[in-house]
Amino acid sequence: MSEVRVRNLSLAYGATKALDDVSLDFPDGQLFGLLGPSGSGKTTLLRCVAGFVFPDHGSVMIGGESVERVPVEKREIGMMFQSYALFPNMSVADNIGFGLKVRHLDKPEIARRVGESLELVHLEGLGDRRPHALSGGQRQRVALARAIVTRPRVLLLDEPLSALDKALRSEMQVELRRIQREVGITTIFVTHDQEEALTLSDQIGILRAGRLVRSGAPRNLYHVPQDRFTASFLGEANFFDGKPEQGGLRLASGALLPWPGQKVEGIATLAVRPEEMTISAAGPAHGNETCAISGELVRISFSGPTALCLVRGEGQQFSVLVKNSELTEIPVSGPVTVSWPAARSMQIRD
Ligand code: ADP
Ligand code: MG
Repeated sequence: MSEVRVRNLSLAYGATKALDDVSLDFPDGQLFGLLGPSGSGKTTLLRCVAGFVFPDHGSVMIGGESVERVPVEKREIGMMFQSYALFPNMSVADNIGFGLKVRHLDKPEIARRVGESLELVHLEGLGDRRPHALSGGQRQRVALARAIVTRPRVLLLDEPLSALDKALRSEMQVELRRIQREVGITTIFVTHDQEEALTLSDQIGILRAGRLVRSGAPRNLYHVPQDRFTASFLGEANFFDGKPEQGGLRLASGALLPWPGQKVEGIATLAVRPEEMTISAAGPAHGNETCAISGELVRISFSGPTALCLVRGEGQQFSVLVKNSELTEIPVSGPVTVSWPAARSMQIRD
């Protein structure tokens, strides 16, 4: 078992709390996506796990044992960062095998493992090349091969794909996931890209200003975000504030957003994803299964297969995502009704 656990980690740089009482489990063999805005403490958390910095408080455990007294090179960790400096004057094979050489493995064993790694990252036959003779994506693969050739217990990836253009980036996301599954190393993947985290991760943790906001499975966090930050950081969300009453949430404008079941008690905010809403010209939908708001269309922004419609209604603005094929049904002037299934309203607790 090589699960990683951090408990009550705190680390301050002067007045800045880079980490503030963070406790998290990174399960054995899983890919854990660590997500948060710039400056939220993601890199600092990785550096604590790797042993480059020491927390003021709290502990790091790898495979059930505290690593407090274990130096970086003995923690059996593979790393890959955005700037994955390869040695320019060494061949690809020597770059990958470097960590084995410093561990004094014999030559045939190094050659065997480097060969295996080249195969794993689909760079067979390129071992003799120099890094400058590779494409950006290929260099990335070399860096990944180098990080896992030593068979580390834990793989730490700090925004490894953020320097790549969009197409290459999605290709490398798929590759990274495949390779991680094949080798089954416990992996902590840092990114500030929500979509990337949702696509790749078995579990996600969200950091904000050094604190852990939420953690859980991607779908769960997306559909049941519970707090405002998670709801708006993982995708887009429209918020409706009001007073809870029997049967729903009463907005300041007087409109009632029905809520199936009695759970809305005590909840003063509902959030709705733009893709759950539909726009029509018809009057308000009735019944307690559907939420409906009347308003007017402010703007439509096209983005290829979909368009985001900005609607003003009930004293606020909100976004509705529609398929391009549905745009023709939307009235360009006059009142519109925006509706969504009441069950798609998400309760926000803060
Ligand atoms: P992230 O990786 O999420 O962008 P970091 O972990 O790098 O965030 O940084 C968290 C906070 O700690 C930031 O406010 C950053 O400025 C501060 N910080 C990080 N490293 C240092 C350092 N060596 N000295 C001073 N402040 C630092
Ligand atoms: Mg960082």
